[in-house]
Amino acid sequence: MILVLKPGVAVAEIRAIEEAVRRAGASPVLIEGKERCVVAVVGAARADVREFELLAGVSQVLRVTKPYKLASREVKPEDTIVRVGDLSIGGAQVVVMAGPCAVENRKMLLETAQRLSGMGVTFLRAGAFKPRTSPYAFQGLGEEGLRILAEAREATGLRIVTEVMAPDKVELVARYADVLQVGARNMQNFDLLKECAQIHKPILLKRGLSATVDEWLQSAEYVLQAGKNRDVILCERGIRTFETATRNTIDLNAIPVLHERTHLPVIVDPSHGTGVRAYVPPMALAAVAAGADGVMVEVHPDPEKAVSDGPQSLTFEMLERLLRDLEVIAPVMGRRLDLSSKRPAPRPARGKAHGDAVAFQGEHGAFSEKAARQFFGDAVKTSPSPAFRNVFEKVTGGECEFGILPVENTLGGSIHQNYDLLVEFDVHIVGETKLRVVHSLIANRGTRLEDIRRIYAHPQAAAQCEKLLRAHPEWSVLQVYDTAGSVKMIKEEKALDAGAIASADAARRFDMEVLKEGIESDPRNYTRFIVVSREPAKKGDKVSLVYGTANRPGALFRTLEVFSKHGMNLAKLESRPIAGKPWEYLFYVDAIEDLPNRQVAAALKALREHTTFLKVLGNYPSAP
Ligand code: PEP
Ligand code: MN
Repeated sequence: MILVLKPGVAVAEIRAIEEAVRRAGASPVLIEGKERCVVAVVGAARADVREFELLAGVSQVLRVTKPYKLASREVKPEDTIVRVGDLSIGGAQVVVMAGPCAVENRKMLLETAQRLSGMGVTFLRAGAFKPRTSPYAFQGLGEEGLRILAEAREATGLRIVTEVMAPDKVELVARYADVLQVGARNMQNFDLLKECAQIHKPILLKRGLSATVDEWLQSAEYVLQAGKNRDVILCERGIRTFETATRNTIDLNAIPVLHERTHLPVIVDPSHGTGVRAYVPPMALAAVAAGADGVMVEVHPDPEKAVSDGPQSLTFEMLERLLRDLEVIAPVMGRRLDLSSKRPAPRPARGKAHGDAVAFQGEHGAFSEKAARQFFGDAVKTSPSPAFRNVFEKVTGGECEFGILPVENTLGGSIHQNYDLLVEFDVHIVGETKLRVVHSLIANRGTRLEDIRRIYAHPQAAAQCEKLLRAHPEWSVLQVYDTAGSVKMIKEEKALDAGAIASADAARRFDMEVLKEGIESDPRNYTRFIVVSREPAKKGDKVSLVYGTANRPGALFRTLEVFSKHGMNLAKLESRPIAGKPWEYLFYVDAIEDLPNRQVAAALKALREHTTFLKVLGNYPSAP
């Protein structure tokens, strides 16, 4: 049973509700979500539904139909994002966990960790305690292995995922690990799961070799039930089937099934899933395409010599190639694989944004906010702003450390206003991110497609959904400057003849109905966002400039010649009329270079000789 609380319920009322649950012989677990708060009634309650309904602060009592409660979407509709330091699992980022099957020795583990961190991997996996089918096989280094893992974390900053096999070792492993793995063979070791429920470290729960999804979720429930540990990551690692061509059969079906039934993040381990090195990359890509929140793969400096699981371990070269492919696939799924640590310069003040807000234009739920999470991570604090100008003002005025702004869309073209504001305000571009934009037609519940007469859309969104709008001449399209805000507006109006174009996220946030998803005219719809700050980035491979040239023959050509001579690859050139100076233009340039600072300075010096006005908008790491 779950008790849905009224919005704005008082703390005293919550305490009284919890007390009533205890009196009925069950345990209350309070789950505070963005959209709603609920008290889950765990255990068999002796009270009637009606008794709970009458409690002050309770708006609704729901029966949970599944054998698991705290793991179910019914209890917690929004996704759980598991945080590990400044990293998160289950949010905008796709995570990659990689490492050898076992900690074999200190040298090999430290070398592996260095290689992985150089590639931009953020989690190191390796077993110190190994569950081996044969008692004669290598059993792991035990605590010595844990010490080596901790040393690898010290040296590289990688977070550690390692297995715990016995209930009496949970406390020991938790002292060293960032994430504790419960292996497939232990998925139903209930004493182990109960111990895992008592700690405050995330548990990576692998699927048992012959466990159904519901059995697996009941095991997750064991970890969640005490209400102390809320962080379980589910890991599909292949199940036993009649097929013998592969070690196991990866059940990719489980990914959408789990996303429907539970709020917990789901990752896939194609190494144990296939048992064959060559099959690992395609299945890792398939997992992300199917909606997995991450992958876990085995990698070894010399797989032929690995003490365990060599045949399924990737070489470093194979992993590097896989990461590149994942980086390309992730944005198609509306996610991002952050391999930023391999970029030449770390992102400016990254992490600082966790304390200071990032300004964006629009209401919560806007695409710009999603882009901010994609760039800074899910823990970022965001500051909604009515207009683009306000975003610039918040940054220059010191109210926000960063601002995030759309500058270009693959269907709608450039967002010129932001180009103009970049000239007007004294800010630096410090980074960029590209977001796949999937639009939805959103309406109040009860509205049918044929009832719609008015559509509220941002001009950019309308341009991106132009085909659908053209097919419905009976709709009048009204301009708004806030996609998520227009959803809120028709909700407040209770309009039954109106629709809004925004993200499915915005629909969820305002509890509205999605009438049609994916209404953009072409699925390859991406928006490029820039991140601005008062302080410049230290270094990057991309330079953005704006300049004017004298009005004489060859003037523009001279400037372009400078880029070519200095080995800078011109990625974009855009001209804009100068406000107040009819028929005079500014040129916006993006150039990709990977030059020492000195050479960039020389190129800019040469450029100054051929321009009447020049402003460097930023030198920052380009987005993949
Ligand atoms: C492992 O991750 O090395 C492992 C033993 O996995 P599983 O429990 O999935 O077999
Ligand atoms: Mn293994």
